[in-house]
Amino acid sequence: MKKCKYCGTPQSDERHTCVDCGKPLPKPLSAEEAEVIEDALDDQLDAMSEYRDVFEVSCTDRILGILGIVGLIASCLLFAVSQTEINRMNRELQEALMAAAMAGEPLFEITRSTEPLPPTRSDYLDSTVKGSVVAIAFFLESCTLLLFPKFIWFISTIRDRLWYADEPTPSAFAESMMKFSKYGGFVIGCIALAFAAWMYF
Ligand SMILES: [Zn+2]
Repeated sequence: MKKCKYCGTPQSDERHTCVDCGKPLPKPLSAEEAEVIEDALDDQLDAMSEYRDVFEVSCTDRILGILGIVGLIASCLLFAVSQTEINRMNRELQEALMAAAMAGEPLFEITRSTEPLPPTRSDYLDSTVKGSVVAIAFFLESCTLLLFPKFIWFISTIRDRLWYADEPTPSAFAESMMKFSKYGGFVIGCIALAFAAWMYF
């Protein structure tokens, strides 16, 4: 192994000029010196492979994402079903009140009819509209959460871009915010599912 005296780049014994700066190279290094440089290079490579990009989508992220989507769909379905049931009960009560008023009976005597009425088309339509509004709200929420890490990264690197025009590096705060927002969507999905389940059961 040879090492350039001017820029410090290590290179193979076959080369006569530096691959980086073009200056002539000295004699090859001794085996011990070469080993020290190789160890340092190995450490550098290890550090690079261990560094995880905050924008990287890992296997865990994918699983959380799928669980979030399943939770979102399930909560919308539960919401629609529960709303349909509530609408049907309200309609039944209204009809019973109306019938009692028409017959001149006291309203407190109204009891639930033994034969429940089936939900109508308008019940389903009404619930579908309400379910869609919830779905759109959650979709917008997810979009915001997905864009949030990039936004934080952009804001935190503006100074680097303006002054150095170099590869910008996000601050430790920005990195922790990015990680937080990555899992925020999943947490919100879980809360939505728990709320829908509580409403239904
Ligand atoms: Zn050189």
